[in-house]
Order: sequence, then structure tokens, then C-alpha cells
Amino acid sequence: MKLNLIFVGFVLLLMSSCITSRSTSPQAVTPHVETQLEMVTRADWGWVPLTDTIPTHEIKYITIHHGGEDFPEDKDVIKYLIGLQSWSRSDKNWIDNPYHYMIDLQGKIYEARPIEYPGDTNTDYDVRGHALICVMGNYENQILSETQFEQLALLTATLADKYGVANDLIKSHKDYTETLCPGKDLYRYLEDGSLIKRVAELRKP
Ligand SMILES: [Zn+2]
Repeated sequence: MKLNLIFVGFVLLLMSSCITSRSTSPQAVTPHVETQLEMVTRADWGWVPLTDTIPTHEIKYITIHHGGEDFPEDKDVIKYLIGLQSWSRSDKNWIDNPYHYMIDLQGKIYEARPIEYPGDTNTDYDVRGHALICVMGNYENQILSETQFEQLALLTATLADKYGVANDLIKSHKDYTETLCPGKDLYRYLEDGSLIKRVAELRKP
């Protein structure tokens, strides 16, 4: 039985490679996310477990933000994450950091609020159903690097595949409400469609 399955797999592989090799376009093979994305887990950065919860939600959208404050190269990311968590709880009365994932200046990805709980916002859109990704920094003033762009696309593609989010439901904060977020140098990649194009290339066929 197992051997049969291996054989069927082999035949399918042969068939798919035939289809690919017959194609004339060099872009015929769509790269997709093969492995789990590398990220700094909550345990890795010293996240303090939740002391309160809110009703859970199902992910239907992916929404991109920036941190909104200038982020110098030498700023301590871990201290920033811990500070943001503590401010969110004590000053805002939120259950946790407002975003589910955060990306630093080097493109490193950090887990933040557990994704089963809706995030939080200082603006007025309904965050239920949204997976919130925040790129640290202020992209009204800062420039998004190529690595940050690629990591953002990879994380977005991974989440989109995992939760079955359609490409046209991947947007930014600004698309839902009056705000500068995610800043002009990040928003331009949403506006010109290049981020979604890259996400589409990375998604599983
Ligand atoms: Zn935002």
C-alpha cells in the first residue's frame, strides 16, 4: 500500500515536471512557501502570559500596519516588545500587545498577541477577523528595506495559506479607516499591487 502511494506520488511528480518542462515561460514554476517561517516565539522574547481573555475569532483578513514611531537601528527590539506589552495592558487595558506579529528593521519576525484573539486599535475599524501584522518603525519617515518587504510577503503568504485568506482581503490599516498607517513607504507597495503580487507568488499553488 505504502509502495503504491510512493509510486503514485512518483508518477504525479513526473507528470507535473512534464507539464512544467513543456511550458515556454520561465516563470511557469511558482515558488511557494515550503517550510514554516522562522520566527522569534513569544517564549523567546519574554512575553508575559495573558491574565485575561476576550472572545476568540476566525481569521478572514490580513491587515498590515506600521508601529508609527521612528525606530532607530540601535533600538533594543526585545525591550520595545516588552514595553509595548506592558503599556498595552496597563495604559490601554488591552489583553496584550495590539498586533499578532511584528517585524523589526532586520526583517526578523516576532510572535505577539496569540492570533486566536482579535487585536486592538486606537482607531475605529472592527478588528475581529483580522490577522494584524506590524512592521516596527514609522514608514512616513523611514524606508522599508528589501528584506523587510520579503519577510512581510512571506509571513503574509504563510498566514493567508494557513487561514485561507483571499489575496484581495490582504490590505492595510489605511484601507479601513482614516489613518497614516502603515506609512507612505510601506503603503506604496500595497497601492501598486507589488506586495500582493509577491504574496501570490509565494502562496501554495
Ligand atoms: Zn495601523
